[in-house]
Formats: sequence, structure tokens, C-alpha cells
Amino acid sequence: MSKQKKHKSGFVNIIGNPNVGKSTFLNAVVGEELAITTPKAQTTRHRILGIVNSDDYQVVFSDTPGIIKPAYEMQEAMMDFVKESFEDADILLYMIEAGEKELKNEKFFLKLKNATIPVFLLINKVDKINQEKLEKIIEYWREKLPNAKLFPISALHKFGIEQVFNEILENLPEGPAYFEKDQLTDKTERFIVNEKIREKILKHYKKEIPYSVEVDTEDFKDEGNRIKIRSIIYVERDSQKGIIIGHKGSGLKTIGSEARKDLEKFFGKKIYLELYVKVNKDWRKKDAQLRRFGYKN
Ligand code: GDP
Ligand code: MG
Repeated sequence: MSKQKKHKSGFVNIIGNPNVGKSTFLNAVVGEELAITTPKAQTTRHRILGIVNSDDYQVVFSDTPGIIKPAYEMQEAMMDFVKESFEDADILLYMIEAGEKELKNEKFFLKLKNATIPVFLLINKVDKINQEKLEKIIEYWREKLPNAKLFPISALHKFGIEQVFNEILENLPEGPAYFEKDQLTDKTERFIVNEKIREKILKHYKKEIPYSVEVDTEDFKDEGNRIKIRSIIYVERDSQKGIIIGHKGSGLKTIGSEARKDLEKFFGKKIYLELYVKVNKDWRKKDAQLRRFGYKN
């Protein structure tokens, strides 16, 4: 028998409640700021793949929106992304944050308990608690999810990530690569731009504003030494347009300059970013608009 290593590949899907650190973990394990992260719940609206490649393996991570009870159509579409990620997983990473008790959605929790694939329970944000508290948490979850392997981690401080990754490699099935070996994500450059702009809006605005916003990049031109981008921020109502733009355009200016800096780091090039705000009445409730923004097929 040949001793040659067989190629391994598979889908590793990250699920859990909103705000526990799923996107932070994805970025840490992939080593790129692929998914936006903010202190606000429901930052992630889509399923985002982050791919880690080597000659011997391809691990396809998938970040998902946090599990919630959907209140409107866009959120229903968001939960469809979570359902999908149960279905095609080779390994499930269920993330909780230290202190949190079980899923807000019982159905998902039962699915997790009865999963026939490996389930890793990632206890995140352990930087915020002491050893004693951690031991209690571990005890609790051991009982609650006896089939899961437990990993205390801190995604933000990149603590424990390597152990998780090594265990993933151990459990990954043999198989061919699903994507090109130089591919980092399934998302387009335009998507990355949209999300980065949305991250800044989530950061700087309160209440309904962040949730009423969608971004569409109409133009992305790589000119070699710089990238020229034109993006539109869509809001649901006229009043929101003025709020986003701010006094003498100060709001828009802040979003633009912060997003530009991050995008320059991500793409490794100078960025020229033009931003506009437009009203798209009640887009979150309209099928055609949800399709346009990639929430539905
Ligand atoms: P998601 O909604 O599950 O994707 O959560 P995010 O990745 O967007 O993170 C939510 C918030 O938790 C952000 O403010 C992160 O900076 C923070 N966070 C993520 N991981 C950690 C961690 O290990 N420790 C601490 N203290 N904060 C974290
Ligand atoms: Mg997220």
C-alpha cells in the first residue's frame, strides 16, 4: 500500500447565536478580513465562504448569520442560509460565548444534538472570564451536548484557533478540492466592498439605520495601481437619507474614508471610492429587491 497522503477537503460550517464571534473566528482562521464584524447583532446577513488551501487539503469554512426568530422577509432569507449550512456540512462548529446558555431556536439545537457529523463546540471570548467560570461552562456543555468536542477559544485574540484547525484536519474527509487552490472566498470583490461600507454604517449609526441599509457597488475598476469604486448606499426612507449623509456630508465622509482605508489594506492597492445615498422604499420586504441584493435566488 502506498504511504502517500490522500487529499482532504470539506465544508466546515460555523453556526450560533448572533454576536458570539462567528465572523471574527472566520477571519482569524482564514487570516483575512473577509467577513465584517461589529458589536451589533445581525451584522452578517449572508453565507460567506472562507477557504484555507494547502497542497494536501482544502477547508471551506462558512460563516452564517446568527440564529434568530425571523421577523421579516430578509430575516427569513437569512435563516435559510443557516438551514443550508446544516445540510452540506462535513463538520459543524457551534459557537457560543462564555456565559451564554443554549440556542434561542430550539429546533436548531435539536438538529445539532442529533447531528451525525462531527460537532465542535467553540466556547468563545474566554478572555473575558476566569478559569473557574470556564470549568463550570465546560461542565454545563458537556452534559448538554455530549457528542461535541469542546474548545475554549478567543477569536479576537487568536487564542486556541490552531487547536481547532488541527482537529478539523483530523476529521476532514478525503476528497478533491471544490474550488481553485488560489481562491479565498466565494464572494466577489464587489461584495467585499459592499460589506465593508455596511460595517462602517453599523459602527456609526444607531437604531433602525444600520438594518435599513443595503449597499450596492455599481462600479469596480482595477486600473493596476489603483482601484476605482462607485457604491450606492440604499436606505428605506427619505428621512434616513439625510441622517446617513449628515451635516454638510460629514457622515458620508467618515464612512467613506474609514471604508477606503480598510479596503486599501484588503486589496493592497490605492482605492478611489465614490459614495452615494439613494432611497429604495421598503426594500427589506420586497421580493425583487431581496433577489437583487442576493438574499434569494
Ligand atoms: P457574529 O455575529 O457571531 O459574527 O460576531 P462578530 O464576529 O461580529 O463579533 C461580535 C463582537 O464580539 C465584536 O465586537 C467582536 O469584536 C467581539 N468578539 C469576537 N470574538 C471575541 C473574543 O474572543 N473576545 C472578546 N472579548 N470579544 C470578541
Ligand atoms: Mg457575523
